[in-house]
Amino acid sequence: MNLAQQDIKFLPGVGEKRGEVLKQELEIRSFEDLLYYFPYKYIDRSRMHRVCEINADMMYVQLKGRILSFETQGEGMSKRLTAKFTDGTGVIELVWFKGLKFVTGKYLLNTEYIVFGKPNIFNNKINLPHPDIDVYDEAVEKQAGALQAFYNTTEKMKNQFLNSRMIQKLVYNLFTCLKAPFGETLTPQITQRAKVISLNEALYHIHFPKSQDLLRKAEYRLKFEELFFIQLNILRYSKLNSRKLGGFVFTKIGDYFNTFYNQNLPFELTNAQKRVLKEIRENVRTGHQMNRLVQGDVGSGKTLVAFMSMLMALDNGYQACMMAPTEILATQHYETVHKLSEELGINVVLLTGSSKKAHREKVHQQLLTGDIHIIIGTHALLEDIVQFDNLGMAIIDEQHRFGVAQRARLWAKNKRPPHILVMTATPIPRTLAMTLYGDLDVSVIDELPPGRKPIQTLHQYDNRRGTLYSSIRKQLELGRQVYIVYPLIQESEKADWKNLEEGFEHIQEVFPEYNVCMVHGKLKAKEKDAAMQLFVSGEAHIMVATTVIEVGVNVPNASVMVIESAERFGLSQLHQLRGRVGRGADQSFCVLVTSHKLSEVTRKRMEIMVRTNDGFEIAEADLKLRGPGDLEGTQQSGDPFNLKIANLVHDGQVLQLARDIATEVVNDDPELKSPSNLTLKNQLDKLFRKKVDWSLIS
Ligand code: ADP
Ligand code: MG
Repeated sequence: MNLAQQDIKFLPGVGEKRGEVLKQELEIRSFEDLLYYFPYKYIDRSRMHRVCEINADMMYVQLKGRILSFETQGEGMSKRLTAKFTDGTGVIELVWFKGLKFVTGKYLLNTEYIVFGKPNIFNNKINLPHPDIDVYDEAVEKQAGALQAFYNTTEKMKNQFLNSRMIQKLVYNLFTCLKAPFGETLTPQITQRAKVISLNEALYHIHFPKSQDLLRKAEYRLKFEELFFIQLNILRYSKLNSRKLGGFVFTKIGDYFNTFYNQNLPFELTNAQKRVLKEIRENVRTGHQMNRLVQGDVGSGKTLVAFMSMLMALDNGYQACMMAPTEILATQHYETVHKLSEELGINVVLLTGSSKKAHREKVHQQLLTGDIHIIIGTHALLEDIVQFDNLGMAIIDEQHRFGVAQRARLWAKNKRPPHILVMTATPIPRTLAMTLYGDLDVSVIDELPPGRKPIQTLHQYDNRRGTLYSSIRKQLELGRQVYIVYPLIQESEKADWKNLEEGFEHIQEVFPEYNVCMVHGKLKAKEKDAAMQLFVSGEAHIMVATTVIEVGVNVPNASVMVIESAERFGLSQLHQLRGRVGRGADQSFCVLVTSHKLSEVTRKRMEIMVRTNDGFEIAEADLKLRGPGDLEGTQQSGDPFNLKIANLVHDGQVLQLARDIATEVVNDDPELKSPSNLTLKNQLDKLFRKKVDWSLIS
């Protein structure tokens, strides 16, 4: 029987109505969907409680006994049904507010039941609202063993009596009506190598675990399988692509690179920069298209690495482009690159959303003729009208701001895809990188340029402004500059605007002898640039800003970062903001200002920020505190895998194993052509037929 094609309504106990509800509420359409609808928790039901020991703090109780009587109370909406239940040690009320008829019709007096529910206090008495009730020796009870599975359900489902208990019964029916085992999805070699139990056993024990041990084995098998096929898919395509598409071969290091390296390099490269450049060099000379992620903490010098990589392309007769998420950042990159390449005779241009029409047209033209060597810009670069003569290298800076789909468009700029370097200052935890960017090679710049003093971070409550302002003043007197950032999550939220503008006025009053400028997303590009320029040139001493300054801006003389309402920022965002200071030789400070009423999680976030400057550590902590769905890197792209059971926070080891084994499989048989891999190929086709090929992207 093909479980995926069996309509759920045909399962005994379902039928038309419930079938509809299951489809609508949980997207359970087939037998298979139900089988893969996993419980969200398990409760040890080996223990029976006694009525006399129940108190309202208990999470749940399980009782064995009889119903003595039923009684209906109240009228209309407040109508309720109570049943007196006893186990011989006392009497407790079971209560229902819905489905009264069903309950009185179903449960009998003087029959032995197992009752399971959460104690509740009502009128100073403990009762059990809407408990689960089973006849003592019902078959499913034996099946269920010691651990009871719990399934998420919705209000609508409960109206059709599709509670967690009923789902479990349906799953049980499924197992009884399916005599034959379900097909295995892994090969014997893999189950052996990964030391996992069979799919059949796993599916059974995930729903009806006989013991903690079997439950763990079942979970392990299913997690492994889930992660394994994701990895296999990613690796299979990246292998196929690098074969099919090939990459430009940059045969030589030429004049541009050498002249720059020998004569124009503004400072000695750090060892990490050298190593990453070497990795890139090795990559682009092989004939394989490069897809590389460069992770480097804020201030680690990624721009220079990007620039020198672009020179490799130029030396081999190709063009290069660099894309940044904001206009300010693109402009700053343009200025940096322009300055670095002054002596080299390279034509560098900038293209952004606010470029004038005449400039645009000229740029479009000159890109086609090859007169432009390097183009730097924002999303404007992705427009179809932007076409190249021969784009050989594309750099994407601060990739977490770009959606996956947008990156894919860079591929289409040439018949052959250019080498791609994705640079991020938001370190992505390893597990996430392996799944989201599984086919990317990763280079890490794990060293800051010499002479930097680690930023000191303080956490301060917002009722202690006096101290805060006097320490800011001290820094200003030393000739340093200061950022003050306000949260503006949606740049349209009224309350936020008020905060920002009041903040601006307030700061002007507190520091009348200093110049204060303000930058936010609502300013026209020109106004923004003018304000930024005031700060960059040192004319303005204090910049009041929103997170538009988050990414990339570089003012070495700024040594204080004050973040107002820091509790409203995510960890990686705080880390990014903090990275705006600490770029010069002076001791820098970051002050996180929050209200004193903080949730536990927020307090932890502040503690982490105060404790460490290490972006990787912060990213790991962020993942743990928030879960992968909320991480900045994944917000735009969503969770493309929609994991059912594996968890990227906790299952790093399973993931590594899945990746290792998938790598072996693909290395032996890239197209999964061998008969022994047919099972794997079929399963992959089934799982990923309709899905986006993520590995083509980035
Ligand atoms: P990020 O990695 O955050 O993009 P940048 O590329 O903006 O960092 O570099 C931060 C600062 O460090 C810049 O002022 C840059 O000129 C400087 N820098 C980069 N590499 C070095 C180096 N090897 N030695 C000294 N300073 C460097
Ligand atoms: Mg940068």
